[in-house]
Amino acid sequence: MAGEAQADCLFCKIVSGEVPADVVRETETTYAFRDINPQAPVHVLVIPKVHYPDAGTLAAAEPQIAADVLRACAEVAAQEKIADTGFRIVLNTGPGAGQTVFHTHAHVLGGRGLEWPPG
Ligand code: 5GP
Ligand code: ZN
Repeated sequence: MAGEAQADCLFCKIVSGEVPADVVRETETTYAFRDINPQAPVHVLVIPKVHYPDAGTLAAAEPQIAADVLRACAEVAAQEKIADTGFRIVLNTGPGAGQTVFHTHAHVLGGRGLEWPPG
């Protein structure tokens, strides 16, 4: 059921500690850890501890936790010292947009120039 930990979900396993991760920040409702395949000098994934497949379904079911994720992204950016130079928050939604892990996650990217529009 949405919201409950999924046995076959990689990011639920990271939240539970079953799969190790380089954690940079944790709040009551969120978890932030470095991406295993970084696309920028700073590349952190911010996730809700609860399982929802994407940002839209999370926001519809748990709007406060969706806000917590966005707030945690800004806090991670400040902590990683990319808040002043600028950073990007990316929420890939659906396989056609490159989503490969179906547990909501925000990419926080920075520390290099970020072109717009993205490729
Ligand atoms: P998506 O493509 O779904 O938007 O992002 C999934 C991200 O998870 C990718 O950037 C990928 O590098 C990252 N990732 C996949 N497996 C692992 C893992 O085991 N640990 C960590 N830290 N990141 C992972
Ligand atoms: Zn999950």
